[in-house]
Amino acid sequence: MFCSSCGKENEADARFCIHCGEELQNAASDDKPIPPKVVCNDAGLDLVLPPNKYAIWAYYLGVASILCGPPVGIPALTCGIMALESDREHPNRSSRFHAWIGIVFGVLSMLFTMLFILISIILD
Ligand SMILES: [Zn+2]
Repeated sequence: MFCSSCGKENEADARFCIHCGEELQNAASDDKPIPPKVVCNDAGLDLVLPPNKYAIWAYYLGVASILCGPPVGIPALTCGIMALESDREHPNRSSRFHAWIGIVFGVLSMLFTMLFILISIILD
């Protein structure tokens, strides 16, 4: 019986390590029930957050670009395109949805800024 903490050998039936005092995980005396393994079905969570991290970024940056404009809209657009690219390997409906939000809002933030610049030039 080897100690899981210090790695030194102990008596086969020892409860505690004689070297470091750590409680030994004695297989023979360990009759604690093994807790059931929790299997998470990510189908529900999938609707909130896609597994594609680019899609998550595209979504949040896209929403933020409404307030922040192109400095955030451009990375939102980039992340959205990258999300769609990586989505080809693992097709996922929610990551496509989040990616498109990033792309649409990224483009809109740029269009609004261009429109704003154009209007200010015309009115000047
Ligand atoms: Zn030990």
